[in-house]
Amino acid sequence: MVSTAAHESEVLLQDAQAPEHLKDILEKVRQLHREEVEPREASLAHRLSNEREFLDSDGRLHPEIVQARREIMRAAGKKGIYSAHLPEHLGGLGLGREEMIYVEELVYGYGVGLNPALLSWSEGATPRLLFAHDHQRQEFTDPLVRGEKTSLHGVTESGAGSNLFDMSTKAEKRGSDWVLNGSKAYITNYFDADVAQILAVTDPKGGRRSFTYFMFDTREAASRGYRLGNLYQTMFGDGYTGEIFFDDLVLPESAILGEVGQGFDIAVMSFNYTRMRRAGMCSGWSRYLIERTLERATDRQIAGMPLGANQGIQWMIADMYVDWLQTRSLSLEVARAIDTPGPWYRIPRPRDEIRRICALKVSNDESFYRVADRALQVHGGLGVMRDTSINKLFQIARNLRIPGGTDEVQRTTIAESLGLRFDTSKTSITSER
Ligand SMILES: Cc1cc2nc3c(=O)[nH]c(=O)nc-3n(C[C@H](O)[C@H](O)[C@H](O)COP(=O)(O)OP(=O)(O)OC[C@H]3O[C@@H](n4cnc5c(N)ncnc54)[C@H](O)[C@@H]3O)c2cc1C
Repeated sequence: MVSTAAHESEVLLQDAQAPEHLKDILEKVRQLHREEVEPREASLAHRLSNEREFLDSDGRLHPEIVQARREIMRAAGKKGIYSAHLPEHLGGLGLGREEMIYVEELVYGYGVGLNPALLSWSEGATPRLLFAHDHQRQEFTDPLVRGEKTSLHGVTESGAGSNLFDMSTKAEKRGSDWVLNGSKAYITNYFDADVAQILAVTDPKGGRRSFTYFMFDTREAASRGYRLGNLYQTMFGDGYTGEIFFDDLVLPESAILGEVGQGFDIAVMSFNYTRMRRAGMCSGWSRYLIERTLERATDRQIAGMPLGANQGIQWMIADMYVDWLQTRSLSLEVARAIDTPGPWYRIPRPRDEIRRICALKVSNDESFYRVADRALQVHGGLGVMRDTSINKLFQIARNLRIPGGTDEVQRTTIAESLGLRFDTSKTSITSER
């Protein structure tokens, strides 16, 4: 599972196409990988390459790995890479979506070790911070942008996944405070987060304006009605996903992220970011899988010939390349279309952009899954072994088709935006998410 130094085809597949002005940023990523990721991967090799060592005795991600990830986030934060996607006024590098694809695919192209910690994901500096107020900057925004704190994002509930309007977690006004009751399910980084960003119903009859985000310190709230529930055993054994509960948790007005009633729009914006983020992630990991599969097809001897001498194997690898190239090209095109009219985080977004973002997610999720499936097939029995990076990425690829809005929700949104929405009296489950 330890990431391997990039194969020479990195030059062919990526550098040749990266714009000149990103050279310094990409060099910083390589340096961070060399100096911060590789040594930690080497000292934790026994944990990263063995599922039983990866988790602690309670099934949680092992504290040594949690710690190493945090150190890498901090180091990447210091160099500005961790939050490169955020605008400069928030402490980011202000990179557009197209530029971020090159950065992301370099980071994920290292494989599935500690490298993903170089970039903020759902546990870090998400674009929801664009809605943070000045009084939240010192305690939440700045440390999250610098990779010094981590957060969780609480939207999904056991009874409300694809349709936000099924949500039952409520925040009710009491004097000048809000009282939060309910629970959230499938929450990434649920036990280690310093900061919680929770979407709750504040006006059940408000339609799109029914929801509000709250941001608070989890450790401080733990003594006042915030509690952790069960850890889930996910198929990819992350030891990181679980449930959280709110029992009469009193939050001040100052805990509101954005405005009362703005939660749906902020959620949609951050889901769209998650979907666009698939581009570099799936491209980098697909490239990694193609490289490992090429190596295996060359090194593995069967009946005195390299495995890759067989046309059946060659065609599988060619199909992996076609999937990768097709989706990467689509991703770059969509990213360019998103960047051109203005920053990618502006809301509301025109319908045609939302449609393309959904297409990007479906295409990346599904092509990466096909690439991972073929990589596993070419690796034979070795690919079935859980402690290999090929197997791990196959599990991750299968998972990616669910979070961030399932691929079916993306298809529904695409179809609705093409005019196939018939009962307009009801709030759509997608509402062009
Ligand atoms: C590993 C992991 C991490 C996650 N992390 C987070 C997190 O940090 N924060 C968070 O808030 N959530 C998180 N989630 C939750 C994730 O966003 C939801 O699982 C997802 O939105 C789907 O909701 P659901 O599981 O309730 O499925 P359901 O809504 O029950 O859907 C079940 C199936 O029905 C399909 N379906 C639903 N409606 C329709 C329709 N109208 N037409 C056709 N098909 C439909 C879906 O596509 C799906 O295949 C995570 C999930 C996973 C697996």
